[in-house]
Amino acid sequence: MPDQNDSSSNEQTYSSTKTGDRSILPDDMISVEEARTQILDSVSLLPAELTHLSEALGLTLAEDLYSTFDIPPLPNTGMDGYAVRSEDTTGATYDTPIQLKVIGYLAAGSVYAGIVGEGEAVRIMTGAPIPEGANSIVPFEETDEYDWATRDTTRSDGEWEVNPKAEVRIDVEALTGANIRKAGEDITANSLALSQGKLIGPAEIGVAASLGLTEIPCYRRPRVAILSTGDELLPPGQVLSPGKIYDTNSFSLAAQVRSFGGIPRVLDISADTVEDLTRNIQDGVRDADLLITSAGVSRGDFDVVKTVLANQGAIGFWTVRMKPGKPLAFGTLRDETGREVPHLGLPGNPVSAMMTFELFGRPALFKMIGRSQNDANAWKRRTITATAQDRLKNTDGRRFYARCKIELTENGYIARLTGAQGSGVLTSMMLADGYAICPEDTAAIEVGESVEVMLID
Ligand code: AMP
Ligand code: MG
Repeated sequence: MPDQNDSSSNEQTYSSTKTGDRSILPDDMISVEEARTQILDSVSLLPAELTHLSEALGLTLAEDLYSTFDIPPLPNTGMDGYAVRSEDTTGATYDTPIQLKVIGYLAAGSVYAGIVGEGEAVRIMTGAPIPEGANSIVPFEETDEYDWATRDTTRSDGEWEVNPKAEVRIDVEALTGANIRKAGEDITANSLALSQGKLIGPAEIGVAASLGLTEIPCYRRPRVAILSTGDELLPPGQVLSPGKIYDTNSFSLAAQVRSFGGIPRVLDISADTVEDLTRNIQDGVRDADLLITSAGVSRGDFDVVKTVLANQGAIGFWTVRMKPGKPLAFGTLRDETGREVPHLGLPGNPVSAMMTFELFGRPALFKMIGRSQNDANAWKRRTITATAQDRLKNTDGRRFYARCKIELTENGYIARLTGAQGSGVLTSMMLADGYAICPEDTAAIEVGESVEVMLID
């Protein structure tokens, strides 16, 4: 029986079935949670490997990383200015300034060789290490350089760089430690900088680089083989002929795989023949950590996928108490060496395929890539409560995930359906930023009632 998802209503009432007949549902349906638990129990964390920082975004750290040195390694200045001894500036004000002898220039990247003695100063640039003897930085703004920059139009900006003055006028009392960044202010030597299990984002990559590392140990990305099946499918780019449609699932699923941290490998479209399917599945499992197929798992007459899968491994065909996406298959296949590869058989309808991959594939990838290691719920999407702007009707006891657009108003969030909820209407997926959930045991969510929305981005 094909998935009956089409909504024919034009009064913005969306039902999760056209028939409204609960008796058509099989007795052996399993819940979304049961299906997910079984899938998660069958996939494992992948091995760690050293990963270049440029490739580590979105991965999970497999080991603790310690710093062997202080970061920053030396005390340095946080401002452009003069390195002075604070005691030499006692009593200095704009009206009663003091003069110090300029004994040197120091740019970031070098260390000053001398020592700042009584009545002396070193002109210093942000990031340069504090010269020995100095204990405070007076910014340019509190010296006569400020006068020059703002008032003396006869002198050009770069003048100080090429023609240093022998003396500098200090207009304030410098406080000990002022504008000095301490050694180890960021990370102290021998301390834990990044802990195992940490999700690597841009800041983590920066911190790893500050430790001097180019590669870090991360759980590797799942390699996911994607197989679209069906005699009607044509790859985009070819001329459409009667009876054919373009294969969308290969592309939308590959994009989902990538956005969930995996590496997709799209296989050739498989015709609905045992030979073609067998060959493509064998090709797919060769180097995959997960194989996903779409279509051929419903009760349609011509679906040979089920036969082939049953021949090649252990597989369960489930009807999941959800909509869209009731038919789902899950099991393991073996490659030529006997290695077991988990297989997720998604429904063929483009919306159902994406939605089931979101609900079941994403948690599986999160487990494989280590994102669930320290937090078993890491895969969970954020949910909000919104006020329904359309009626969500559920007449067959399945959990209805309705594609909706969320808006924040002064009365809180509101959720509006994105249009026809048929499982072939991919544009309604494109317009959605969340799935409004009508629970299994709720007959309808009326306009104005609260609805839970799972945010998908
Ligand atoms: P099936 O599960 O084979 O009954 O397919 C259900 C529906 O999804 C049919 O209308 C198929 O044409 C459609 N379909 C299956 N696979 C794809 C695909 N890769 N891209 C677009 N539509 C598909
Ligand atoms: Mg088919």
